[in-house]
Amino acid sequence: MGRLDDKVCIITGGGSGIGRASCLLFASEGGRVVVAEIDEQGGKDTVAKIREGGGEATFVRTDVSDESSVGAMVEAAISRYGRVDILFNNVGIVIPHDSIFDLKGEEWDKSIAINLKGVFLCTKYSVPHMVKNGSGCIVCTASIIGIIGETETNQLSYSMAKGGIMGMTKQLANDLAPHKIRVNSICPGYTETPALRRAFEDGTNPEGSRKERESLHLLNRFADSSEIAKAALFLASDDSSFITGTNLIVDGGFTAR
Ligand code: NAD
Repeated sequence: MGRLDDKVCIITGGGSGIGRASCLLFASEGGRVVVAEIDEQGGKDTVAKIREGGGEATFVRTDVSDESSVGAMVEAAISRYGRVDILFNNVGIVIPHDSIFDLKGEEWDKSIAINLKGVFLCTKYSVPHMVKNGSGCIVCTASIIGIIGETETNQLSYSMAKGGIMGMTKQLANDLAPHKIRVNSICPGYTETPALRRAFEDGTNPEGSRKERESLHLLNRFADSSEIAKAALFLASDDSSFITGTNLIVDGGFTAR
């Protein structure tokens, strides 16, 4: 028996990194996974991997920042599986820039649209179906860069969005508790994913600073994406049945220093 047997799980950004690891893990626990992803190839590859392992999944091309796209994605989930039990709001992007001095207004807007409004939209369209079921579970990916600032990299628009997700988590937990819907977030530390590799390549993280940044985690390494997926599974499953409105820090001790 799996921890998510027959639960319908929407996972945004499921075509890569933490999202893909979560899709695979949730499916291996019996979940029926809707891979909501803007990158068609990445999303389809995730579905193929799940099906190879005997799991159930479907890809729905989705732009989380676009209301009509999100509405259509949730409708597709309903028409395929008839219900929504779990929403993992996992999409997030870093827009590289140096500092407040060169961050452009349109970059700020883009960061809000994808990192924050995307969470709002996916939640807004999924919640009515959870209310209908009389239960549900929402997990959001925030970041340690919503709790602390970064010294060498400037991630102003990202930190704003991730801090916003933690605030939204607490308010939604209040609003949705009467409907038996739990809402929690996760703050990963640096995690080995394509996004992190890109950040070292494009200068968001200074070249050559990998070892130094690893050492900022007490465990002296970055997380594997599967380690963040396990935290998401915990919060999405009945293992965390008395937890709502919390932010789970999964950072190898980064913020404990
Ligand atoms: P990733 O880039 O590997 O995966 C993100 C996925 O989101 C990609 O497949 C991308 O195509 C998809 N995506 C981007 N914009 C989208 C949109 N508008 N609509 C739908 N899908 C979209 O990233 P990751 O490192 O796995 O990050 C996952 C989450 O974890 C993000 O919220 C990120 O901020 C957070 N996080 C990552 C780290 C890290 O070090 N990797 C640390 C802390 C938090």
